[in-house]
Amino acid sequence: MKYLIVANWKMNPASRKEATALWKNISAESAKNTEVVICPPYPFLSLKKDLKDKKLILGAQDVSADVSGAHTGEVSASMLADTGVKYVIIGHSDRRAKGDTNEVVNKKILCALKAGLKPIVCIGENTRDDHGFYLHFIKTQIDECFRGVSKAQLQDITIAYEPIWSISTNPNAKEDTPSDSLEMSIFILKTMSDIFSTSAAKDVRIIYGGSVNEKNAESFLLHGGVSGALVGRASLDAKKFIKIINSAK
Ligand code: PEP
Repeated sequence: MKYLIVANWKMNPASRKEATALWKNISAESAKNTEVVICPPYPFLSLKKDLKDKKLILGAQDVSADVSGAHTGEVSASMLADTGVKYVIIGHSDRRAKGDTNEVVNKKILCALKAGLKPIVCIGENTRDDHGFYLHFIKTQIDECFRGVSKAQLQDITIAYEPIWSISTNPNAKEDTPSDSLEMSIFILKTMSDIFSTSAAKDVRIIYGGSVNEKNAESFLLHGGVSGALVGRASLDAKKFIKIINSAK
């Protein structure tokens, strides 16, 4: 399985000019043996086509839970697929904070799969406790988000484990450790195996997100039990993001 490095640009950069420069700089250095996915804001999704870029893979940051109709401001999975999008982030903590429940995330995953998109499903706890209740929280997220997904569809699923307390925009953000990430990836795999089967669960790709940067990426990839990273802040700096891509080599 190739490493998957995903850039979540969130609501950045401010202008098309800056987005174009960032895209070009990342593309120029992108590694061959790694899948690099860029998830820009919707207005910049056309960059890949406009720049005739063949290296970077196009991703979106969210998708509607509905197929069509009166859903002002939303974008459907088939529209994204039609625009050249391959991957879509679903259930990011920013979206969950704005009201996306596990049920909504589940609907979005099913819509995305139906349209041929590959969901990158974010899960992660707000806080860690000493009694392991956060494990129960993660298990519930998995149980509820993957309802109705078939074993065959698991090969298109990526789970991004993002402990919310470690995301850089959190005012008290604290870096997680590769050993925690390893523990969680085993727990996620076990939970998926219990729902689907051990052999089917192995098809799911697990990646890590939360303050991944050019300094810690290699350690997460080597020792964190994951096959990729979801990167926020550091993906807006081409030099830093290229170092992260290169650490997957
Ligand atoms: C994120 O918000 O998904 C994220 C991983 O952000 P950062 O890398 O900035 O912590």
